[in-house]
Amino acid sequence: MALRQDNHVGLAGGGGKAVSDAQAEDAFRTILKWIGEDTNRDGLKETPDRLVRAYREYFCGYEEDAEQVLRKTFTEVDGYDEMIVLRGVTFESHCEHHIAPIIGRAWVGYIPDRRVVGISKLARVVEIFSKRLQIQERLTAQVANAVDEVLKPRGVAVVVKAAHHCMIDRGVRKRGADLVTSRMLGVFRDQPATRSEFLTLVNADKTE
Ligand SMILES: [Zn+2]
Repeated sequence: MALRQDNHVGLAGGGGKAVSDAQAEDAFRTILKWIGEDTNRDGLKETPDRLVRAYREYFCGYEEDAEQVLRKTFTEVDGYDEMIVLRGVTFESHCEHHIAPIIGRAWVGYIPDRRVVGISKLARVVEIFSKRLQIQERLTAQVANAVDEVLKPRGVAVVVKAAHHCMIDRGVRKRGADLVTSRMLGVFRDQPATRSEFLTLVNADKTE
């Protein structure tokens, strides 16, 4: 598959050596001590264990295959060949530089070539790639590439708008700014009218 695999290792896959839950808890305990906390006090006793469970949830996308999810397609669509757009899918991800939250929405559009997929599957693809350490540019590209790879549509367009907590809580500390990224493939890249029809749908979306 041409889909980028560069952040596609499992929870236990970093460098190929499995890390146990107990080892991960120890690592969190070390960080708590490092910030000056007493890890034995009541409020913190269970925190390393909670963190391990939270991280399992934040990063559950490593264990799922987006292409597999998309493979169940429908072909009996009576020649439907117009744009299909799923608007404003919410997601929560984490930046790979600071493990800070990236909170945003994604718009996923495609123009089918015989094959369409259930709309919930498009949302699942956003979910799978967002539950990994990410940068927004790669998240955007991965969603578009997965749809392109499996559905082989006439075109795919993805727009992602998100706020990055690594620039809200730390660093430049700017609230209210969001980052917009897009990836256009096929007819969305080649035909300005198609691209602008999609972008009009994105910009008209009041769910933002
Ligand atoms: Zn960051």
